[in-house]
Amino acid sequence: MADMPKGRWVRETLYEKEGFTCAFRADEVLHEEHTDEQHLVIFENELFGRMMALDGVTQVTERDEFIYHEMMTHVPILAHGRARRVLIIGGGDGGILREVLRHKDVEKATMVEIDPAVTDFCRKHLPQISAGAFDDPRLELVFADGAKFVEDRDESYDVIIVDSTDPIGPGEVLFREEFYRAAKSCLTPGGVIVTQNGVPFMQGSELQSTIEKFRRLFNVATCYLATIPTYVGGPMAMGWGTDDETLAALPSAELERRFAAADIATRYYTPDVHKAAFALPRYVLEIVKPA
Ligand code: SAM
Repeated sequence: MADMPKGRWVRETLYEKEGFTCAFRADEVLHEEHTDEQHLVIFENELFGRMMALDGVTQVTERDEFIYHEMMTHVPILAHGRARRVLIIGGGDGGILREVLRHKDVEKATMVEIDPAVTDFCRKHLPQISAGAFDDPRLELVFADGAKFVEDRDESYDVIIVDSTDPIGPGEVLFREEFYRAAKSCLTPGGVIVTQNGVPFMQGSELQSTIEKFRRLFNVATCYLATIPTYVGGPMAMGWGTDDETLAALPSAELERRFAAADIATRYYTPDVHKAAFALPRYVLEIVKPA
C-alpha cells in the first residue's frame, strides 16, 4: 500500500477484491507460518493487543474478542435453557470454548477444529483467549473437518456453535446446505445452531445464502447482531436455526432469571442486549426475508 507508515502492516484481505482493505500495524510478530490449512500470523498491535489473522482475515483480537465470544455462546445457551451438550465447530483460539464452559450445567463441550496449529499456537501465544478452557475435563477436542465430523457423528447436541472462518479455504464447506443438514441431524429436538455469518453490510449474500438454507431445514431461520470493532463494516450477523419458535422470543423476566442462575460475569452480554440483538434493522430484514 502506498505511503504506509513505517513498520510491518498486516492487511485485512477479506474485501480486497471488492476494493476495500484496512491494516493493523504489527509491532511484534509472535508467530507466523503456512500450516497445512492456511496462513497463520499472531502479532501485537498497539490498539487491539495481541491478535491473529488466518489467510489475512482478522480472527480474534485481545481487545474486542469478548463481544463475539459472549454473544455467540450465551445467547443460544441461555435461550435453550437446558443445554448439557454443546458442539463447537472451528473455534481454534478457544474463546468460544471458554465461554461455553462457564455454564456449569454444560456437561460436555465437543470442539472440532480442522487445524491443530491454530489451537497449538493460540494456547502458546494467545493463552488469555482460552484462559485454561482446553484443560477442562468436560472438553472433547477433535482435530477434523467439521463438515465430515457431523456427517459421521451419531451423538446429539443441544447447541451447535459454528465458529468458522469465512467461506473461503477450509471454512467454505461450513456454509454448504449439506453441512447444515448434517449438523441438524446432530441436534437434539428443540436444539439450536448458531453460525458466524459475517458483516451483513459487507457480506450480505453470505447471510442470505445461509438463511435460505436454514429456511429449508428449520422452522425458525433468522439471525441476531453484535458489533465487533475489528470485524469492519458494521454489526456482525450470527445465524440462528431451530425448530423451537419460543427460543428467540423468551420473555425478558425468564432471560433475567436464567442469566442470574448462570452467575456469569460478562462485559458485553446482558439479557436486554440478548433481546435487542434480534431486533434487525431494515437492511438486514431485507437480506433475511424469504425470496
Ligand atoms: N471469530 C472468528 C471469525 O468470526 O471469523 C473465527 C475464529 S476461529 C479462529 C475460526 C476457526 O475455524 C479457525 O481455527 C479455523 O482453522 C477453523 N476452521 C475453518 N474451517 C474449518 C472446518 N472445515 N472444520 C473445522 N474447523 C474449521
